Amino acid sequence: MQAEGSSLYRLAVAAESDGGGNETAVVTEADRLHMRRALELAARGLGATYPNPAVGCVIVDASGRVLGEGFHPRAGMPHAEVYALRAAGRAAAGATAYVTLEPCNHFGRTPPCSRALVAAGVSRVVVGCTDPNPLVGGCGVKTLRDAGIVAAVGCEQQACYQLNEEFMVRMQEQAAAASNT
Ligand SMILES: [Zn+2]
Repeated sequence: MQAEGSSLYRLAVAAESDGGGNETAVVTEADRLHMRRALELAARGLGATYPNPAVGCVIVDASGRVLGEGFHPRAGMPHAEVYALRAAGRAAAGATAYVTLEPCNHFGRTPPCSRALVAAGVSRVVVGCTDPNPLVGGCGVKTLRDAGIVAAVGCEQQACYQLNEEFMVRMQEQAAAASNT
């Protein structure tokens, strides 16, 4: 079951990067370090975020200085990006945001994080893995790119996927069910 879910996910990612103009998805060693930090932060929420995934976010300026960090502590609380953007304040303009999971793009209990990142003026977003949630499914990244933000997808992808494997499989099943109706 899990193996099947994982291969479905990889297929979805491959399909997206083939036609999606993903030439901007250049990821450096510094990017990987910041993403690993975001993963550490995300892990603090593990076990408390259901039905949401555990997500971490780090905002870094051009010189590599960390401006803000955040993680999603529990369902109903703000998302990781919100805490990190709050901590960074106006300095987030022109900065790079590292998020372990694609920013949400729908109005749930909180406004979409994709729009919060656009509003804050970040110039680049590095995403660990895309969100198979049928309500997000690449739309978060699309919102960023449509706003002129460089979005690199797949940094430390395997670790970001595995952190929320149960969520990933659950969302893939929902997406498959939605596409069958
Ligand atoms: Zn969000």
